[in-house]
Amino acid sequence: SAKGDGKARSQLFHAQMDIDYHYRQRLKADLRDAVRDGALSLSFQPLLDIATRKVVTCEALARWNHPELGPIPPSTFIPLAEEMGLISTITSWVVGHATEQCSHWPGDVGVAVNISARDFRGSDLGSLVEEALARSGLDPARLEIEVTETAVIEEREIAHRVLSDLAAKGIAIALDDFGTGYSSLSYLNALPFTKLKIDRSFVADIASNPRSLRLLANVARLGRDLDLTVIAEGVETEEQLNTMLAHTEIQQVQGYFFSRPLPERDIGELIGRLNAGQATPQANLRHG
Ligand code: C2E
Ligand code: MG
Ligand code: MG
Ligand code: MG
Repeated sequence: SAKGDGKARSQLFHAQMDIDYHYRQRLKADLRDAVRDGALSLSFQPLLDIATRKVVTCEALARWNHPELGPIPPSTFIPLAEEMGLISTITSWVVGHATEQCSHWPGDVGVAVNISARDFRGSDLGSLVEEALARSGLDPARLEIEVTETAVIEEREIAHRVLSDLAAKGIAIALDDFGTGYSSLSYLNALPFTKLKIDRSFVADIASNPRSLRLLANVARLGRDLDLTVIAEGVETEEQLNTMLAHTEIQQVQGYFFSRPLPERDIGELIGRLNAGQATPQANLRHG
């Protein structure tokens, strides 16, 4: 009967909720151990100058390879860490480790780290960054902080103060995943951003959809008008890259077309290869 079906569905639903609950509890306990034992790692993904195709920055992305469950994506464990009050410990490690790695990379390639809303609350992001720079000897101009609109909206007052202090040190501040979340254009002006990372959802179908391309081009134009460095995330194909080159003012690109995020031991070699001497803008134009 319909009533019986409803009951069965409800039982199934509650059983699933139970599994989810226990799964999350287990992940939380294991995450606490992983952080304590130094079991997280960083992968790095290059951001390239669109015209020269040289690497300008690499973004640090946290990785957790669970001993039994395998890789747990950051979209799962970062929100858990935020809930548990564990994110500041993770951020502290990420900033320290990413700046240390960056100091070994060829040329003056920079490093970008992601910051959560919770990092603004209580924790002293400013001195944490200062310490990491001092320890690694890295020029502040080589460090970038990425924050999402959501993080900034949740902690607007503190975010403004902390980000302004960091920007005053010469650290780049990027607005990440732009165009998603509760987008409010006023934040672009109210906070000291120097870079705009346009979310990959704006890139996905630009090669086949003229309206999508015009939207991307206009978002990029807006960023350039505000003197921001404009970056497109999620470039997966050569068609997307060529469409952007021809029709938008995007300055930097990031995505699987160039490289997936790589384990830290492989990133120095990738930078070396991509930035090798012969890759002048002219050579790139000639050889496509
Ligand atoms: P994000 O900061 O926007 O990072 C970019 C994400 O897009 C990465 O996912 C990257 O692997 C993925 N990506 C890059 N290129 C492409 C592409 O061409 N196509 C597609 N489909 N995806 C691409 P990942 O590593 O899974 O990280 C997801 C999110 O988790 C990050 O998004 C960031 O918000 C958060 N996250 C990662 N590491 C950290 C961290 O250390 N701290 C904090 N607070 N958040 C982090
Ligand atoms: Mg990011
Ligand atoms: Mg992003
Ligand atoms: Mg994104």
